[in-house]
This record gives sequence, structure tokens and C-alpha cells, in this order.
Amino acid sequence: MPTPTPGSAGSPELTASTISGRPFLQIPGPTNVPDRILRAMARPVIDHRGPEFAALTKQILPLLRTVFGTLGGEPVLYPSSGTGAWEAALVNVLAPGDRVLAYSYGHFSAQFAQTARNLGFDVDEVPLRWGQPLTPDVLEAQLRSDSGPKPYRAILVVQNETATGVLSHVGALRRAIDAARHDALLIVDAVSALGSTPFKLDAWKVDVALAGSQKGLMLPPGIALLCVGPRAREVSEKGGSPRHFFDWRPILHDNAAGFFPYTPATLLLFGLLEALVMLVEEEGLENVYARHNRLASAVRAAVHAWSAAGCSILCDSESHHSPTLTAVTVPSTLDSDTVIKHALARFGLSLGVGLGQVKGQIFRIGHLGALNELEVLGTLGGVELTLRELDVPITLGSGVAAAQQSFVCEPILKAVPSASPRVAVAT
Ligand code: PLP
Repeated sequence: MPTPTPGSAGSPELTASTISGRPFLQIPGPTNVPDRILRAMARPVIDHRGPEFAALTKQILPLLRTVFGTLGGEPVLYPSSGTGAWEAALVNVLAPGDRVLAYSYGHFSAQFAQTARNLGFDVDEVPLRWGQPLTPDVLEAQLRSDSGPKPYRAILVVQNETATGVLSHVGALRRAIDAARHDALLIVDAVSALGSTPFKLDAWKVDVALAGSQKGLMLPPGIALLCVGPRAREVSEKGGSPRHFFDWRPILHDNAAGFFPYTPATLLLFGLLEALVMLVEEEGLENVYARHNRLASAVRAAVHAWSAAGCSILCDSESHHSPTLTAVTVPSTLDSDTVIKHALARFGLSLGVGLGQVKGQIFRIGHLGALNELEVLGTLGGVELTLRELDVPITLGSGVAAAQQSFVCEPILKAVPSASPRVAVAT
């Protein structure tokens, strides 16, 4: 039993493990892992060089292609987190000194650019206001002015900026690149987007996409996922940076037979298969995306209802509101870290902190992964109680009612999940 520490009111401070009932993990990842996935991973480790493992890999890869929206792209997995996925995406296609165009519009896009700088690439980082998306006009203008002898070799885009709750439209960005007739590689971070909102590697001609297991894929942290388009694959065959662990060439070679050149995260991969079956074959990706939009609309309706108390959505462009998280600004008299601490200590509700420039100014409500309407309502109720207990003049129930109204008004449209080829795993 953990020893309770005295709270400011003289009563013991509660922690997620001492509060009765399930903790509400509503940060924008890691997300809640469904029991089914936990059970799929609760099994003996198998030989990663044996036939059962090869069959597992051969089931996972086609399902991953479906999630990445590709027929010919190659998924590549590493036991790593999203940060490792950044490095893998960069070192396979860029050589030291190559010019890279990056935009920073939140903590993660800034860190992606920093990763590229640390690896020795020549990064042009264009700062945008945090809370703003990367728009096609901005990108096209920048590319049109790139007429020197050493053009950009890659453009870094974060599809869903987890720090600000802003979705950039990758398809429109691709059209901007084409309009500028630029041939830089398009590298897209889909860490907090994949499996929650559409991704179309083929249609958007994305050269490298990257993600992590702990967000829309409903797994614990531990797997970095890339999907490599044909052009990136070709570039990596001849070039790239010095690399070893992140070199995707031996992985692609061994994957063809269902194996990996390193020891894979065996049990996480059983979990990954379960998650992919749930998303692709059972619920169906179109329904998964619609569910995320539905939950996101309800959260935004709640935040609008709190506007009289001084809260608002950080992203001011409706068409760029994130389907997976909402960044909520608090009244300037309040430090948002206080909100986060109070929500956890009183209700076992974990909300995302403000990162970097927006530290202390926002909290983030994650609404991605395994989540339903009642869980969203519980989260919003917890936020309201937290704000009220911190003397924010919020009308209790106003956000919850607005979210309920949003649920009632939005029709639920169910698409039939599309079948995808699978090979049976011997268990
Ligand atoms: N990119 C985005 C958009 C993220 O949200 C995160 C983490 O939340 C990362 C990259 C870094 O991933 P990780 O923390 O798994 O290393």
C-alpha cells in the first residue's frame, strides 16, 4: 500500500491507485488499452525465429498497410517510441548536410525539426503561431522560393500537432508541393493521428509516414511504426546517413519471410494484431474515424459552453480542429498545471499538460483510441468539477449537457468494415 501524503487541506492526497474505480487516463496518449488487447499480450513469449512468429508478422503487415492507406508502401516496425520513428524516418533517406524544410507550430513539430538538426541535416525551421496549422499556401510559397543550387530534400509535416490540438491537411499540402513542382520527399508524423483519422499514403504520395503504438492503435508504448513509399525506399537503397539499428533495409528483407533482424517486441506484436483486427476488421476504419469525429465534436461543444467562464479552444480554425485531442485555454489568472494536478488528485483524471510555449496556459483532453460517449461525458464532468473547485465560475453541467446535445444531434452512420486478407496464426 502506498503511504498517503498529506494534501493541502490536511486530508490524504489520493492517487490513481488509491481512488476507487477505474482511473481516467484522458491524456492524448498513451491511451487506454482495451482488456482484449491486454489479454492478447498476456501469453507466453514465443520464439521470434519460429513459424508461429512468422505467421503473426504476415498477418500484421497487410492490416498495417490498410491503416496507412497504401497498397505498395512497406510498413517497418521498431521496438521504440515516436521519437525513434523520427530518427528512423530521417536517417534512411537523408544524408548529413541535406537541406530540410520544417515548420514549428507546437512542441512536437519543433522537436521533429530539432531531431533533424541533431542528426546533422541543414534545417530551415519556419515558426508559425502555436494553435495554427501548416497551410498549403504557406508551404507552396516557401517551395516556390527554393530555387538555389541545393534544394530541400525533405519536408517535415506533423499531421496532428498533439501539443496544440491542430490537424494539418496532408492531402492539401501534397497538392501545394505538386503545384510548386518541388520534388522534396514528404515525411509525415502521424503519431497522434494514425488509426483515429484517415491516412492515405498512396493518395497523398507520402514518402515516409511514422507513428507510435500508444495512441490510436490502443497499445502500450513500445512500437514505432513507419510506412515507406516507393520513392523513399529507392532513395534509401543508394543513400541516407550512417545507420545501423534504424536501417530499414535489413528489416524489409527479413520481413518478407515474417522475421526481424533484431529481437522484436513479441508480446506487443500480439497486441498489435488484436488492435488491428478490432480497428480494421471489426469496427471498420471508417467507423473508427467517424467515432473520433463524434467524440471530438462533443468535447468542443463542451469547451464552447465553458467560454463564459474564460475557457476556449486553442486552435481557432474549425476546419483544423483535431479529431483526437482538444487543447483548452484557461483564464489568465489560473495556471493550467494547477487544473491538471487537481483533476488527478481529486478524481484520478489525467489530463495532458501544456508543453513548451503554452505551458501553464492550456490543458489537453485526449479523445482518441478506445473511447466511448459515456467516458467522454465522465471526463467532461471531471473537468467541470475540477474547475469549480478551483473557483473558476463554471456552470456545472453546462459542458456535459452541450456534449450530450452534440451526441443527440449527430447521426451515427455505420459503414460495413471492408475485409482484408489474413493468414491464420497457429497458437
Ligand atoms: N510526434 C507527435 C505528434 C507526438 O505526439 C509525440 C508524442 O506524444 C511524438 C512525436 C514523440 O513520440 P514519443 O513520445 O512516443 O517518443
